[in-house]
Amino acid sequence: MSSRSSNSNTKKPVADTPVERKTRRCLMCGTKFTSEHVGNRVCQSCKGTAAWREGDQAA
Ligand SMILES: [Zn+2]
Repeated sequence: MSSRSSNSNTKKPVADTPVERKTRRCLMCGTKFTSEHVGNRVCQSCKGTAAWREGDQAA
């Protein structure tokens, strides 16, 4: 029998949640920003404001 030589298939394990960087609009001010992850929907500026509170949105 010819055993498969999967020696070249040495890929690093892919992360469960791939980093999805998209240019989306902030839900707060509507400014376009690059979200670093899926749950990021508010720009950094709005996150810095007191109006933005974590856990404010009902999960
Ligand atoms: Zn914003």
